[in-house]
Amino acid sequence: MKMTRKSFLRLTAAAAASTAFGKQAFAQSSVGSVPDGSASNGPLLIRGADLLTMDPELKEIEGADVLVENGKIAAVGKGLAREGAEVIDGGGMILMPGMSDGHRHVWQIIDAGRLAKTAPSGYAGYQEWKMRTIVSMTPEDHYLGGLVGGLLAIDSGVTSIIDYAHGQINEENALAAARGIKDSGISGWFAFQMGVSSSYRPGDTVPLADAHAQRIAETTEVHWSIAERLQKEIFSDNAAVMQLSLAPSSVNGSLLSEIETEWSRIRAMGVKLISSHLHKTAEPMPEGYMGYRDSGIPDLHKAGLLGPDYHCTHANKLTAEELEMLRDSGGMVCATAMGEFPYMAAEAIRGPSVHARARAAGVAAGIGVDVNLVLTQDYFEHIRAAFWSHYLEPAGVDIAKQYKSEDVLDFATALGAKSMRLGDETGSITVGKRADLVLLRTDRMGFAMQGTLADRVLNYASREDIDSVWISGQAKKRNGKMIGVDWPELKAQVAAAQARFGPLADTITFT
Ligand SMILES: [Zn+2]
Repeated sequence: MKMTRKSFLRLTAAAAASTAFGKQAFAQSSVGSVPDGSASNGPLLIRGADLLTMDPELKEIEGADVLVENGKIAAVGKGLAREGAEVIDGGGMILMPGMSDGHRHVWQIIDAGRLAKTAPSGYAGYQEWKMRTIVSMTPEDHYLGGLVGGLLAIDSGVTSIIDYAHGQINEENALAAARGIKDSGISGWFAFQMGVSSSYRPGDTVPLADAHAQRIAETTEVHWSIAERLQKEIFSDNAAVMQLSLAPSSVNGSLLSEIETEWSRIRAMGVKLISSHLHKTAEPMPEGYMGYRDSGIPDLHKAGLLGPDYHCTHANKLTAEELEMLRDSGGMVCATAMGEFPYMAAEAIRGPSVHARARAAGVAAGIGVDVNLVLTQDYFEHIRAAFWSHYLEPAGVDIAKQYKSEDVLDFATALGAKSMRLGDETGSITVGKRADLVLLRTDRMGFAMQGTLADRVLNYASREDIDSVWISGQAKKRNGKMIGVDWPELKAQVAAAQARFGPLADTITFT
């Protein structure tokens, strides 16, 4: 990990020393601390682990070795040797691919616990919380949120993420959030939400309807300029493990001509992933708008806008025909099953998560945490929720009846990576893929000793069992501890941030 102890200490010292946590301080701290996806610490040999490869050919192999060279998986087998390699004894442990999360609002971790999804009446104020908080946060808060959110994901075995960044009201905040997640060393996409705007600040009184309209307003040249700076200054290296994605402001309910204009410009920038929330509109939209038919996929199809870069999240009302259109165009879908359970209580979007039906239809389908503000960081819990949610409808029950445990893990590994347009790079222990790996201890009483590896991981693993995590062959976590991460110090910084922006957020009056 190139984020050395020294640079990390410099970063935390800068934070502690200055209420400004100066822009300069964290701009400098990111220099030299950004992990380079192509580099590695030299060859690595993980010996004697039980391999849950998630590779369709290799499946599960007991007591085998994995050789990593130049950040990639170079060999999988028994009795492997490589002179000069760092040798890790995996005896009694399970080695699995690093997991993927296709939709998480990483910045929200900065205010975790402020609301609770398990207290629905309070959680109903989610949008108001968001509208107050995003205008009260500083670039320093966004850097810290990105960094801590990324580190927590890695700590839980997630090595690839789509960070859906929709809480950044200006250029400084967007750049800081991007630097934070990038400096965490996680792979994936920083999906910047276009169109976020705000005319009010702490202390102001603002009509609630105005604030709502600004959450995602029209994309202006200001947003394009932010997107270009992100691309040039932070995500210019096409070989880096984290890349820029853009989330257009024109979505379901928008004029198709506006969608075409915005998406064409995103594509012309060379951005390889268009991320979007997708909800069926409460009423069908007029012709010419997305949402005229079903959840709007047929409208995108007819307008020739679907493609292998289109990624939608939630989308729980997709019809069989819409799933076919996504499959045929290479589109991807993400369900956030644990976060989506309240959909069953919302008339307009009532229905279970889509991932089971999508997978059955041949669509690249993944899962994600979504609101880390209110949900556990233990990713194994989210995978289990993705299974349970199948039982919310008869069609899901029929699909689940045929499942084995590896079918459920697929959403977070091989298929999950594919559902983030990373299927060729990661998601399974396959020669040639990036060495994004998770090594699980199994000695905890309660981690069952019998069953397939997939059975045992799906049903018994938790974050505390994760011994090691590698991304591109670089160790991020070893012996149960994140490398170079001072959790108490970061926790103190988050507490200090909350103590500052929380009271500020409370000074805004919505009328
Ligand atoms: Zn979301």
